[in-house]
Amino acid sequence: MESQSQVSTRKRHDVIVIGGGSAGYAAARTARDAGADVAIVDQGPLGGFCILRGCMPTKAILRSAEVVFTDPQVAVLGLNETCAKAGEISYLTASYPFVDHGKALCLGATQGFAKLLAASQTGEILGAQIVGPEAGELIHELIAVMYYHGTVADLLRMPHYHPTLAEIVTYPAESIVERLGA
Ligand SMILES: Cc1cc2nc3c(=O)[nH]c(=O)nc-3n(C[C@H](O)[C@H](O)[C@H](O)COP(=O)(O)OP(=O)(O)OC[C@H]3O[C@@H](n4cnc5c(N)ncnc54)[C@H](O)[C@@H]3O)c2cc1C
Repeated sequence: MESQSQVSTRKRHDVIVIGGGSAGYAAARTARDAGADVAIVDQGPLGGFCILRGCMPTKAILRSAEVVFTDPQVAVLGLNETCAKAGEISYLTASYPFVDHGKALCLGATQGFAKLLAASQTGEILGAQIVGPEAGELIHELIAVMYYHGTVADLLRMPHYHPTLAEIVTYPAESIVERLGA
């Protein structure tokens, strides 16, 4: 297999594979191993759904999420401060306590906090820790935002019903947005 610039200068191939996803790549490699002169044609970056959006990114995010069904519940996702420091990743973080959160006060479940960790330049959410009521449910919003490479600003723009436990994540998000790029 050859680079795009090399391919564009050639006129003939034994096999031309349309689509450089898992299937196309495997087919091209098999043909190449059989001695064929192969070209892959793709309209986007090579890798297809599996590499770029499906299997690997989703599995990586899921593997980095854990929930412990204690009382209060504990839910963690992605990077924590220790990992970010070890990886020399520049980050901003903020947390907000349930004891200052209206719905938690109504429920009498005020132990714990919601904490976010975001890239210091872009605000992309890199991790979260929630300790408190329904933490195992609340973490799923952050899993979804992280899956789409969302930022703390995205989280702030997304409507959150009031009064709900879910809206607690907007408070640390707001605090980080105010410090972004500073
Ligand atoms: C969230 C999610 C999780 C998944 N997890 C797993 C998993 O754990 N294990 C697993 O086995 N499978 C998983 N899958 C399924 C897996 O992603 C797909 O089965 C696999 O990507 C299919 O490969 P493909 O090459 O047929 O198609 P694709 O990966 O979609 O590749 C198609 C390629 O063709 C290109 N293309 C399309 N139209 C044209 C055109 N007209 N001209 C040129 N190029 C074109 C595209 O740009 C793309 O690169 C998951 C899927 C999703 C959505």
